[in-house]
Amino acid sequence: MSFTLHGIAVSSGIAIGRAHLVSHTSFEVSHYTLPKNLVADEVARFDAALQAARAEFANLRSHPPAMAAAEFDTFLELHEMILADTQISVAPREMIEREQCNAEWALKIQTDQLVAQFEEFEDAYLRERQMDVRQVAERLLKHLVGHPGHQPPVRQDVETILIAHDLSPADLIQFKPQQFAAFVTDLGGATSHTAIVARSLNTPCVVGLHHARTLVREDDLLILDGEQGVLIVNPDKHVLAEYRLRQSERELERKKLKRLRTARANTLDGTPIELHANIEKPEDIADVRENGATGVGLFRSEFLFLNRNDLPGEEEQFEAYRAAAEGMDGQPVTIRTFDLGADKQIKGAERVASNPALGLRAIRLCLAEPQMFRSQLRALLRASHYGNIKILIPMLSSASEINQTLQFIDATKTMLEAEGIPFDRDIKVGGMIEIPAAALALNVFTKKLDFLSIGTNDLIQYTLAIDRTDEEVAHLYDPLHPAVLQLLSHVIGTCNKLGVPVSLCGEMAGELPYTRLLLGFGLRQFSMFSAQVPSIKQRVLTSSLSQVAPLTQKILRADDPMKIRELLDRLNGG
Ligand code: PEP
Ligand code: MG
Repeated sequence: MSFTLHGIAVSSGIAIGRAHLVSHTSFEVSHYTLPKNLVADEVARFDAALQAARAEFANLRSHPPAMAAAEFDTFLELHEMILADTQISVAPREMIEREQCNAEWALKIQTDQLVAQFEEFEDAYLRERQMDVRQVAERLLKHLVGHPGHQPPVRQDVETILIAHDLSPADLIQFKPQQFAAFVTDLGGATSHTAIVARSLNTPCVVGLHHARTLVREDDLLILDGEQGVLIVNPDKHVLAEYRLRQSERELERKKLKRLRTARANTLDGTPIELHANIEKPEDIADVRENGATGVGLFRSEFLFLNRNDLPGEEEQFEAYRAAAEGMDGQPVTIRTFDLGADKQIKGAERVASNPALGLRAIRLCLAEPQMFRSQLRALLRASHYGNIKILIPMLSSASEINQTLQFIDATKTMLEAEGIPFDRDIKVGGMIEIPAAALALNVFTKKLDFLSIGTNDLIQYTLAIDRTDEEVAHLYDPLHPAVLQLLSHVIGTCNKLGVPVSLCGEMAGELPYTRLLLGFGLRQFSMFSAQVPSIKQRVLTSSLSQVAPLTQKILRADDPMKIRELLDRLNGG
């Protein structure tokens, strides 16, 4: 039977392929009955997973991550206790034997019961421990899935579309480009890091589909329209033909745009615009160059940390930063210091913050972990000798954070000098404007920093109090909210007046409907996922600043959302 599901379009393109369902990234599992003769094997599979989880804890205890929080040991102890609880370690075994069900299902049912018991506690601290129960169960579940015995392998003979309840950025980053034709998840928001990674892999992706994981079956034929956010399951031959046609038209269009690779991005009135790219790994530089970006506006260095149990040392980081700098051949490479925390956590050192987006994240975490921060700064400064590196600090909110950070950088420079290690003495240090407080108290930032970069993904999240990873509130995430527009215009305008270079590296920079609006605000430097550079360049080439300016002012004065959208359409020639 053919049917259609609608979600949030986060990475464009059309994919046609067979469904491959995964369940390892969240606590949602399949349920099936086993023949009697396989029950003992299933119990053994559960026992093996339990052993593996115990060994993992023992290993973490003897080799705690270098930057483990002070409470790491207590946290581990608690998780080991939960793992030893009979409801987690014994009851699922009994249920597999009694009901002949699969191990994941038994674990899920028993965990749900234990969580329900925790929910009953009056004491808030104890009640919150249900999160720990879930985390332990998920750890165990990952080991179960690591020894699947039943999960169908990914087909190699056809294009495959990955369907998951949820995927973390760490999950996605380990897929090779083109390993999957598309990604589909039930959870997630448009500017979550999962969406950002899908875009940088240039792979179509739709999130927030709610029930795709339960409604789609393994091997179903699928069409994913990453532009419209639509998933068509088992399409008939007419629909399939229509989408194949659209797919080849898009491909043709992309090829045409690629011809703009070496063209300068000047507006119709001759103003040059810098189009830079966002990357996650040094290997992404090839794409940056292929798409004609003239610099890296944001290297999300924290991706070096994901999917591993140890920390990358100074040497490894130095090599990564140097490779990026050399790969860009003198063009600027803006490397952001680690933005860890929230939805990007180091394996084994996951922190359980009650509100991760507002917690010990990014520069806050770096300042709290001087050893880790120092080794990154040493690596960055050393690599600066080999290219045009700039340092970008995420999530700054106050003068004292800026001062502490700059002191750290100065102290690191002094250290390298004493060791006779070369580095760029004039290296530029910039800050991200992604917290409303920073946008409003801009003077503090313009006085102390060499350049600024606006992170609209977080700026919108914090201005509108909308969790960017939560599909339940994704419809409220609005880049055109008057408050957001006022902040953007204020930051860009003030920087231009003061002569402080300002760039925008949030997802808005790569979205065509906003290009002219941002040009109208005075933005002259954009940074986006590489594949989008040619389209944005084409839009710049067909934009006239003198025509854009009056309409932009009208948009800024408007407060009715309908009116704002109507004016934006006019700005875009609609
Ligand atoms: C942003 O917040 O807009 C940004 C560019 O940083 P990230 O998406 O990595 O939080
Ligand atoms: Mg951010």
